[in-house]
Amino acid sequence: MNFISLIQTKRDGGRLTDDEIQWLIAEYSADRIPEYQMSSMLMAVFLVGLDPNELAAWTDAMLHSGEILDFSHVEAPKIDKHSTGGVGDKVSIPLVPIVATCGVAVPMISGRGLGHTGGTLDKLETIPGFRTALDPPEFSKILERHGMVMAGQSETLVPADRRIYALRDVSGTVPSIPLISSSIMSKKLAEGLDGLVLDVKVGSGAFMKDLDQARQLAATMVGIGRTHGTTVTALITNMSQPLGREVGNASEIRESIEVLHGGGPPDLIELTFRLGAEMLVLGGVAPDLAAGRAQMEAAVASGEAFEKFKQVVAAQDGDPSVVDDPGLLPLARNEQTITANRSGVVIAADALDIGVGAARLGAGRETKVDVIDPAVGTTVTARIGDEVEAGAVLATLRYNDDANLADAIRLTERAFVIGDGPAEMAPLVYEEVR
Ligand code: URA
Repeated sequence: MNFISLIQTKRDGGRLTDDEIQWLIAEYSADRIPEYQMSSMLMAVFLVGLDPNELAAWTDAMLHSGEILDFSHVEAPKIDKHSTGGVGDKVSIPLVPIVATCGVAVPMISGRGLGHTGGTLDKLETIPGFRTALDPPEFSKILERHGMVMAGQSETLVPADRRIYALRDVSGTVPSIPLISSSIMSKKLAEGLDGLVLDVKVGSGAFMKDLDQARQLAATMVGIGRTHGTTVTALITNMSQPLGREVGNASEIRESIEVLHGGGPPDLIELTFRLGAEMLVLGGVAPDLAAGRAQMEAAVASGEAFEKFKQVVAAQDGDPSVVDDPGLLPLARNEQTITANRSGVVIAADALDIGVGAARLGAGRETKVDVIDPAVGTTVTARIGDEVEAGAVLATLRYNDDANLADAIRLTERAFVIGDGPAEMAPLVYEEVR
């Protein structure tokens, strides 16, 4: 087969056959196709899309690029959660130990930061020593022992997604329904799950900017799950402002630990408990959402969920003392506040501008070889609907290197709109797709 002619076929609106898709994913995963050609193919898919048969073949080829895990010997129901990506979205970090304490097993394969959105792996790796590259036997051992494990794509676990994900991040090809759904579903189906809960984000800080697109993405992933015999529930949730207060990497671990101690900002708590309750219901561990939530609250109140997180950090070679004392996590040397230029009501705290601003400080990547600064990011103090006085702090930028500080300040200032009010308050959870 000839890769250039496959690019031309897709570019011109043509259809790729199952064999062609299988071949191109396998060749790229084996490093036999250069990145400039694969970027070109990804851009063609971004612009033209994939029809349902192509999408099924593309997802299947990614899924079979590595091992498919089999946890049929694990008695607990295997349920995972995945987000389509947002700003300040650290939900997985507190959620997984809480639901694992309640009796579902979570074999989670996550991703790194993508575009302006953060990634669970980058956040976890701010814990000194924490390893997210696990081979299948190790992954399985930690899951069996602790009922949870959090790792990344690797040479054995969905290697095609590892490569394509990193290339999409730096080639302007992230916000595509077929590319997002094949990326997420290949990782999740490789985990041998009984069920999956998806958090499909919508709003400025999400890849899907409006509800119709988010519905389409949710329906596509629910459909892929159905074809593979995995029950998928998707919640469409608001990403017009950052989730919680912290946008960064180490700072998001600190905020996650607050939730495990029963604290944290209300929106983060609400979404963590809502998604977790869906997981417990899907796994048959709770009869309904209210009972699931009560079980989760008990797991936090007893301290068991926090202990589980600490045990898993240690099992993945992370330093558990930072879980006890999050002050030991990396902290940026400098800070710059963004203040209100007038008194009034916060009408917007734009997640995209805040996310891009934090990435400019070093919390995200612009090229594949960029190294993230774990310590930097933005603390968002003002939320939509808050009443503020002129001069009040809206956000604090935390940075080590001031090379892009002016740009980060400009973006973060632009994110906040203060008006006479009232602000339009969007729901945190818009709807469910099953
Ligand atoms: N999360 C993923 O795993 N992949 C995407 O493409 C977007 C979000």
